[in-house]
Amino acid sequence: DSTSNFVNPDDNDKLLGGLLTSGFDEASCKSRTQFHLFRKPSPHKPSPYLVSQLRNYEDLHRRCGPNTKAYHKTMMKIVQSKNHDIATMCKYIIWTAANGLGNQMISMAATFLYAMLTNRVMLVKFEKDKLNLFCEPFLNSSWILPRNSPYWSWNEINTETYQTMIEKDKASNSKEGLPSALYINLQFSSKNPEKFFHCDHSQDLLRKIPMLILRSDQYFVPSMFMNPIFNLEVVKMFPESDTIFHHLARYLFHPSNEAWEQISSYYNTHLAKADEQIGLQIRVFNPSTSKQAIMHLVLRCISKHNILPELDDLQTSTSRKNQTIKAVLVASLYREFGDNLRSMYLNKQTVNGEVIEVYQPSNEGRQKFNDDKHNMKAWMDMYLLSLSDMLVTTSLSTFGYVAQGLGNLKPWLLYKQTDNKTHSDICQRDFSSEPCYHIPPRHYCNGDSMTDIASSFPYLRRCKDLYFGVKLA
Ligand code: GDP
Repeated sequence: DSTSNFVNPDDNDKLLGGLLTSGFDEASCKSRTQFHLFRKPSPHKPSPYLVSQLRNYEDLHRRCGPNTKAYHKTMMKIVQSKNHDIATMCKYIIWTAANGLGNQMISMAATFLYAMLTNRVMLVKFEKDKLNLFCEPFLNSSWILPRNSPYWSWNEINTETYQTMIEKDKASNSKEGLPSALYINLQFSSKNPEKFFHCDHSQDLLRKIPMLILRSDQYFVPSMFMNPIFNLEVVKMFPESDTIFHHLARYLFHPSNEAWEQISSYYNTHLAKADEQIGLQIRVFNPSTSKQAIMHLVLRCISKHNILPELDDLQTSTSRKNQTIKAVLVASLYREFGDNLRSMYLNKQTVNGEVIEVYQPSNEGRQKFNDDKHNMKAWMDMYLLSLSDMLVTTSLSTFGYVAQGLGNLKPWLLYKQTDNKTHSDICQRDFSSEPCYHIPPRHYCNGDSMTDIASSFPYLRRCKDLYFGVKLA
């Protein structure tokens, strides 16, 4: 009935203009209803078409998701008819993890868009290290691949791969004998046949396979713009092509209650009182790089672009009275950076009278794998960074991409840490909050090589932090 469609304008804001659906149990995911107390409203509203596609997806997920009749029936059928073409009532894509949490989150977002475009149910294979980070994103269902699924303990060796499928298809030129489950590795698409993943020919074959198992650490959304059919749909869903990750991330990634407790209490204790928050993400890819050299780079960037004020060494400033507080949130594996900056500003006067407070929630020392507490800290850092008014991130870091996308921020990008041959600047403002796709296809679907991807497709531009990467503008 028409009254059930009535949305209170206030609720509409909290539901991000219809991006989120109502009906979730508030206590099970507090961040879903409390985030707006921490986050500035986004100027980007989802298109009505995106909203309707999300609701359709949620219906599909509810019908075919874990623990439904359709799920059990379809899974049984897929497993039993290993090497035959079969038609099933539900189709799936299982996302599997590769690399760090930032890489994983950008590839989950891309996989979810692909699932929507192809009417597949997306299930995520989460080990213990991720089970407690996020709320369930889909109402009245779960996106977690159940432990008892035959595809939990699946291994790459026993599953047909995309590569063998394409080879067989070329050899026999027939569509017979497609497997019921297929493994796709989008991690190295520049060398492997997966570089044609987005092409019509591949998609025609994949459409007939009910179970796809995908491994990717990339934000491959730009490749969807290279396929004419997907392109039409994506443009309709996202009339502002530079806000795709912003919408997908705010739709999918809600901190679990445990994560939210840590994020919100850190924010309330340290950051809430500041007039402005600056996020500083300092990712050191090679632990042997001199921290001092990196610190030097960071300081030059923030002073050159007036991100933080200089110290008033001569104490000549008269603007002391009108103090505003700027909180700097430092995210890094190394505590030196926060300590350094803090001691620099501690008890010192700045030229414009601003008071600079420096916080660093964690310093893990090194990247750890399969560690739930470590991942929780990473998620907390990414989320807190995303609440900033201004962000400085490290080139090439997907950790920074997640923060900038969630927060709708165009960051200042710190260029390569010590060797700065490719850029004369130390840092530059990025042109969009989208993640960079580091290894985009380098061929047209007919096999010809693409000399300039960015100029071959509207909406795509070369990334500022990676010459051969592309991102949405
Ligand atoms: P990328 O390697 O920078 O693209 O980002 P990823 O998130 O994929 O991998 C880096 C991983 O190292 C993170 O997921 C964390 O586990 C860890 N890490 C790196 N930088 C930080 C940081 O600033 N804070 C925390 N808590 N962890 C970090």
